[in-house]
Amino acid sequence: MSDCIFCKIIAGEIPSEVLFEDEDSFAFKEINPVAPHHFLVVPRKHIATVNDLGDEDRELAGHLLQVAAEVCRKLGVAESGYRIVSNVNKDAGQEVFHIHLHVLAGRKLGWPPG
Ligand code: 5GP
Ligand code: ZN
Repeated sequence: MSDCIFCKIIAGEIPSEVLFEDEDSFAFKEINPVAPHHFLVVPRKHIATVNDLGDEDRELAGHLLQVAAEVCRKLGVAESGYRIVSNVNKDAGQEVFHIHLHVLAGRKLGWPPG
């Protein structure tokens, strides 16, 4: 999608600190991190929200979780722990309407989130 900031990041039109990429997915550092490790995992395919995942996206959705785990292994935080969050729409504060997993690690994460 032409006006989507994450599509532009995936296309390399906006610079990002890339942690992982493959045919279907892209992981890059969050610009305003809220934990020592904070990165985003996105599909290359533009999908606005989790509500818009279709049956054809079943494998892709699972793959994003595997990518999150793989990057956490590379960062050395897979065993100490991490949190995966996906904000959906207004009440969750979604700002970018291209599905993304926030992955947070490197500190004790409180529960429940505020
Ligand atoms: P949301 O609130 O939609 O779940 O999260 C979107 C996230 O994308 C925000 O945490 C925001 O800081 C991050 N973000 C927005 N623009 C950019 C950008 O240009 N580069 C990077 N790396 N992150 C961005
Ligand atoms: Zn997009």
